Amino acid sequence: MGQLRKKIVILGAGFAGIYALKSIYRHLKNWDDFDIIIIDRNNYFIFTPLLHEVATGGVNPGDIVFPVRDIAEKSTEHYEAEVLGIDLNKKLVDTSQGQVPYDYLIVALGAQTNYFSVQGADKYTFGIKNIDEARRLKNHLIHIFDEANLELNPEKRKDILRVVFIGGGASGVELAGEVYEFMREINKEFSRIREDEMEFYLVEADDRLLPVFHKNFSDAALKILKKRGFKVFFSDPCARVSEEGITCVLTSTIKSKTVIWTSGIMPSTIPFIPEQEKQKGRILIQPVLNIKDFPEVFILGDQAAFPDQRFGLLPPTAQVAMEQGNFVGKNLARLITGKPLLPFHYFHKGELVSFSKWKAFAQIGQVRFGGPAAWLVWRFNYLFRMPTFSKKVRLFFDWILYLVSKRDIAEI
Ligand SMILES: Cc1cc2nc3c(=O)[nH]c(=O)nc-3n(C[C@H](O)[C@H](O)[C@H](O)COP(=O)(O)OP(=O)(O)OC[C@H]3O[C@@H](n4cnc5c(N)ncnc54)[C@H](O)[C@@H]3O)c2cc1C
Repeated sequence: MGQLRKKIVILGAGFAGIYALKSIYRHLKNWDDFDIIIIDRNNYFIFTPLLHEVATGGVNPGDIVFPVRDIAEKSTEHYEAEVLGIDLNKKLVDTSQGQVPYDYLIVALGAQTNYFSVQGADKYTFGIKNIDEARRLKNHLIHIFDEANLELNPEKRKDILRVVFIGGGASGVELAGEVYEFMREINKEFSRIREDEMEFYLVEADDRLLPVFHKNFSDAALKILKKRGFKVFFSDPCARVSEEGITCVLTSTIKSKTVIWTSGIMPSTIPFIPEQEKQKGRILIQPVLNIKDFPEVFILGDQAAFPDQRFGLLPPTAQVAMEQGNFVGKNLARLITGKPLLPFHYFHKGELVSFSKWKAFAQIGQVRFGGPAAWLVWRFNYLFRMPTFSKKVRLFFDWILYLVSKRDIAEI
């Protein structure tokens, strides 16, 4: 009888998981002698940096998702299942479809929305973490115009059209810019609603927008928002959300049917046996990306705490997840062939944030710039990173249409 094939199991088909899979193909010469299995609750990978454009009718939802089977080589299996826990001693993953044994494991289950125990936030806010949430937000934004259109009382119309953003980080600022433009475009279809009946608020617990960017960008972003009529509150975190709107810790109470939560994330919380040491809820990993006492288990992306001199812990970004994914195949191949593992070194390329049509900020090394040049860098950077050629082409045409025609305002 032939020897049993060894199993490499990847949990999570997000940025870290998908790039890990591709790096296994690159670095492990005899990868097709192994059973490779990738498990995710969805059968696709989502390109999250473009979700805000899905939520505002600029990009087709299908154009930013990639079936795992399109990215994986034919002999790789994808299981559509919920991961429930991992027993490191028995080398078993517990899933909604049964137990999956492994010889080598890559864990990349990412993060979920963090509501910081704010009362009502999970029930009454809109998020933007996945395609369903982006679609729900888009439909709601279109729907409130229909509702406001039938309302004869101008004050009540304002209440219906008031939008509150909680969180002024990159996701909040990007979404605020797109939602503002989207609502102005929808408004053109409703002759009874005046532009000044739409109101926009942004609440940030910190004392500035875009806290990871240079202060100049925070100031520029604030200037743009204010020019567009946004009311921005700093250092007054949201304490409660209800059907009526939000109440902040210090003073502000804002009536709104549309509260959008982009305030934070917390790492995936699936149980490990034995439990692992954590920092800020993320599992502490070693410089070679695996965990202490279990060299065959690598943890990557938003779920991993990787100590770093500059950042404290590496930030939960696609940039970090992709670099770790790209690297892990090399160490897995070395582990399998009995070579010493190499430490991972993160190379921070910079930051990009887009702020609706032709407006963006870029910080690449020591160089900072804004405006149309930064906007084009933002676009081409993401276009280049899309995993398949056909979706790159589709996205490119979505963006051409976004520039020359109206956004899609179908409620679907
Ligand atoms: C709206 C938005 C915009 C963003 N914009 C940017 C940006 O511009 N630049 C940037 O660098 N970063 C950005 N990020 C952050 C970036 O998306 C994450 O840092 C990155 O996706 C982390 O990669 P990951 O592989 O660790 O997790 P993810 O990409 O989240 O992948 C985790 C995968 O695990 C699956 N999963 C989770 N739990 C389970 C379970 N129990 N069972 C089965 N499957 C499970 C999920 O379905 C998912 O496919 C953005 C995030 C969001 C939400």
